[in-house]
Amino acid sequence: MLNKDNFSNYYSLKTGLLIVVSGPSGAGKSLITQEYIKKHPEAVLSISETTRSPRKGELNGREYYFVNEKTFLKREKEDYYLESAGKYQNRYGTPKKKIIQDLKNGKDVILEIETQGAEQIRKKFPDVVSVFVLPTSFTDLEKQIRGRKTETEEAINLRLSETRSEVDQIKYYDFVLINRFGYLDESVKALTDIIKAERYNVKRILNQYK
Ligand code: 5GP
Repeated sequence: MLNKDNFSNYYSLKTGLLIVVSGPSGAGKSLITQEYIKKHPEAVLSISETTRSPRKGELNGREYYFVNEKTFLKREKEDYYLESAGKYQNRYGTPKKKIIQDLKNGKDVILEIETQGAEQIRKKFPDVVSVFVLPTSFTDLEKQIRGRKTETEEAINLRLSETRSEVDQIKYYDFVLINRFGYLDESVKALTDIIKAERYNVKRILNQYK
């Protein structure tokens, strides 16, 4: 039985926070979350599975687990993923088991996923903290995607054309973070402040006892 007079015990979060970070391709989500993870050992970044081919420099088990379509579909049927979605002609999914364990162990878990997946997570975990990362402008975004030289022209155009409908989804998120290119520290600080504040959210703390 929890002693309500022991404030420091009663009014604190017992598990980790689940944090979703979404935003258009090229907005800088990965850079921000990776930098955050480096500075916060209490947080982990979930590694997704995808059917897309590795880009130059990507390693299996670091950026993604690269799986074939057959394996992905089988796992999807077996409820292996917490959420999954099709995007840019590929499939992406968040493996469930590790995340549940990490949260129970008090780790904050960051999912860097697109908007359809975020919607599924919101339904399953109403307490999720969701952050949408935006570039300063559409022009800057295009510059950024072209600059990384990792996609074909076709893939670039597909990503750019989906940006506007993705941005329409902002209204379902808790926070919006404008990532000014060249000011990574500023964005990492904003994410840090958001996560820190959410740890002290009374509703979330009291929801644990429902
Ligand atoms: P990319 O191919 O550029 O690595 O990722 C394309 C999009 O898929 C990005 O918006 C990325 O956040 C999203 N994504 C990556 N992993 C997952 C996942 O496990 N689930 C969902 N729904 N989206 C993901």
